[in-house]
Amino acid sequence: MALASMFPRPATALEVVSRFFSVVKAKADEETAAKAAARTTDKSSPTIFDKIVKKEIPATIVYEDEKVLAFRDINPQAPVHVVLIPKDRDGLTQLSKSDPRHKDILGHLLYSVKVIADQEGLTDGYRVVINDGPNGCQSVYHLHLHILGGRQLKWPPG
Ligand code: 5GP
Repeated sequence: MALASMFPRPATALEVVSRFFSVVKAKADEETAAKAAARTTDKSSPTIFDKIVKKEIPATIVYEDEKVLAFRDINPQAPVHVVLIPKDRDGLTQLSKSDPRHKDILGHLLYSVKVIADQEGLTDGYRVVINDGPNGCQSVYHLHLHILGGRQLKWPPG
């Protein structure tokens, strides 16, 4: 291995500033997309996740049982980024739409997180995220839990 590639040069001030603004722009795009999704989506219609459940579109499935399905996020935010969903949405477009009949599936989802994290080898910890509605930057209206790990995550999340 060349010595230069083992000791990459420090970033210039211009590169640091440009990286900062590209992160700010990505966050703004994410917010805009989430707000547009909240405005324009018919939340009762099937989502892309229903197509994944029916295996109509491909996804890298990492865990499945009779009630839930977990697959790798198409746009991972960490070395491990798994999306976990109930197979039957049953009105659970988002967590804030849950009612008492959903308690069983909500518990099942949370326990499945633990099973998947063990399976993924996330022994040093991980984060579970549920984005809810436009302020939560939710973009797909089928309840889902993000399982993020494999690197040191920061707090607050922004
Ligand atoms: P939300 O922003 O609603 O909390 O999360 C939706 C997530 O679903 C995003 O992280 C996005 O990358 C992921 N996603 C959207 N469409 C697809 C897809 O077709 N396949 C997979 N594997 N992930 C998707």
